Amino acid sequence: MHNAPIVVAIDGPAGAGKSTIAKEVAKRLGFMYLDTGAMYRSLTLKALREKIDLNDEASLTALARSTRIDLKIGDHHALKVLLDGQEVTEEIRSPEVTNNTFYIARTAGVRDVMVEQQRAIGAKTNVIAEGRDIGTVVFPNAFCKFYLDARFEERANRRCKEMSEKGKAVACAQVQQDLQDRDTKDLTRKVGPLKIADDAIVIDSTNMSIQDVVQKVIDHIQSHG
Ligand code: C5P
Repeated sequence: MHNAPIVVAIDGPAGAGKSTIAKEVAKRLGFMYLDTGAMYRSLTLKALREKIDLNDEASLTALARSTRIDLKIGDHHALKVLLDGQEVTEEIRSPEVTNNTFYIARTAGVRDVMVEQQRAIGAKTNVIAEGRDIGTVVFPNAFCKFYLDARFEERANRRCKEMSEKGKAVACAQVQQDLQDRDTKDLTRKVGPLKIADDAIVIDSTNMSIQDVVQKVIDHIQSHG
């Protein structure tokens, strides 16, 4: 038995299915679901609202230090995101926020603050943490690490479908372009880039059902101890 909390890391590009898989695995194992992207998104929303210069590293870092972000699990296991106590669950998914997270995510001082908060959560409770740098930077000693990927076209299709299901008017060509841009920025930034950890289990979900991926992740976790 482990005395320290168990951390499972899931990294990968946007649209690979990380959130869906991480949420389901967390529910099945009774772990906390830690959506680190929601933290970068929340800070982006605040910076946009306060009209902070997104190229000003010192201001962004100060903003990160003075901001409180809480991730709560609400009814039906849905994630609820609170920014300084106010709910922003839906707002942080807007295209404007999505396309500006890059400025926040590339700022080293901001990442330091985020990583520290994520580690504090992982030190207290069993978590399934998902993001870009979880297995490489945040929790290099995670109990189990996964890198979830899927073919680019498949990821773009999933994103497009997801948005139209939510009733949002979308141009799929635009979704594809935004995803391509975000991939490039996530892969090439100097701090905390998207990278496969040496000891990560790589899963390509292109031709897999959600349930199959969930089962595969759980099987690995259970056989790991
Ligand atoms: O996972 P999600 O798509 O919600 O993340 C939004 C953005 O936040 C990503 O494109 C990435 O730039 C940033 N992010 C990050 N590090 C993480 C999680 C997300 O830089 N651990």
